[in-house]
Amino acid sequence: MDSRPISLYIHVPFCPSKCYYCNFLSFVSSLDIRQQYVQALIHEIENKKYLLRTYQVHTLYSGGGCPTLLTIEDWKHITDVLQTVVPFSSSLEWTMEVNPATVDETYLLALFHLGVNRLSFGIQSFDSQVRLLSGRKGDIEDATHLISCAVAMGFKTIGIDLIMGLPGQTLSLFQQDLDRALSFSPQHLSLYFLSLEPRTVLYRRKNILSFPSENHVISFYHYACRALKAKKYIHYEVSNWAQQGNMCRHNMNYWKQGEYMGLGLGAHSFLNGKRFHNTTHIQKYLAGYMRGVPQAFPRSTEDQYAEYLLLSLRTKPGIRYAVVSQRFGESYRALLQQKVEHSLYRRYLHQGKQGFSLTEEGFLLLDAIILDLL
Ligand code: SF4
Repeated sequence: MDSRPISLYIHVPFCPSKCYYCNFLSFVSSLDIRQQYVQALIHEIENKKYLLRTYQVHTLYSGGGCPTLLTIEDWKHITDVLQTVVPFSSSLEWTMEVNPATVDETYLLALFHLGVNRLSFGIQSFDSQVRLLSGRKGDIEDATHLISCAVAMGFKTIGIDLIMGLPGQTLSLFQQDLDRALSFSPQHLSLYFLSLEPRTVLYRRKNILSFPSENHVISFYHYACRALKAKKYIHYEVSNWAQQGNMCRHNMNYWKQGEYMGLGLGAHSFLNGKRFHNTTHIQKYLAGYMRGVPQAFPRSTEDQYAEYLLLSLRTKPGIRYAVVSQRFGESYRALLQQKVEHSLYRRYLHQGKQGFSLTEEGFLLLDAIILDLL
């Protein structure tokens, strides 16, 4: 029997300090906790091997937090155990998120030899004042030196992440950020809109810091769309651009609703049509609370359909009517086609006989368009 493809995500919830805009499941930790965490990850892999036995891993994504706070030996140990449980594809895409403040050249070279082939550098801004106001630690000149080293080492894909809308950011500063990112000719760029989340330092300081207005931030996005199109980057998802052949296969699998397993604190999985996730409580995770049969969340057809619309419309290929018929039935397809015909947002859609997708302007109205089509 052929193995089914699966994507694996490994969450490492540790950071050297908490950035002011961040509400991810991450925190500052001791070396002792990190060592316990690696042991807990190993136990989780061994306990879930029965779920993985019919699969082959096509993509592996190490995210966080800062996965680069684990040692190279830790990563070797984790992936050695993983490969005793589930085979890796010979064309495995292995992404590592890199906070430059946590690595040096030796570490990056060791990742390369371990088989990591995509690095995603969390830069957010190259401007020292914007970084200071955002609580992003680390010397930016060291970070740029590390990106140059990674390029020279020959990683297949170098990605750079920037945020639009940080305090103190202006269009001209953002243009400088993007120009500087492009000076490395990265194969991949992620440009995220700042989302002010409760329980972050920026949220608490929102009335005393100066943020660019919404219209101003939209002008950053328009500038980026134009500049990246001129450089032949493909805008393949709301926040992601890639050179030909360098789209993130791991994230594409999420958006196409392919199967994946998340390992580590709070990690989510989608297997055999069922969704489940691990505890978000670190002491429970370290104590092995995640073992045993995962509890799946029941989901109605309406929920699954809404999720399909939301995930597909984030991407350049968009919605295929044939997929809607096949997954949800002819009645869903007919209703969707009717809604598209009468949508208030038709000018934000690229329409064809086979389906439709959002324009760049439409990506900015994603939530409203989904509501209109449901
Ligand atoms: S390094 Fe990343 S995960 Fe950690 S606090 Fe900063 S943004 Fe959040």
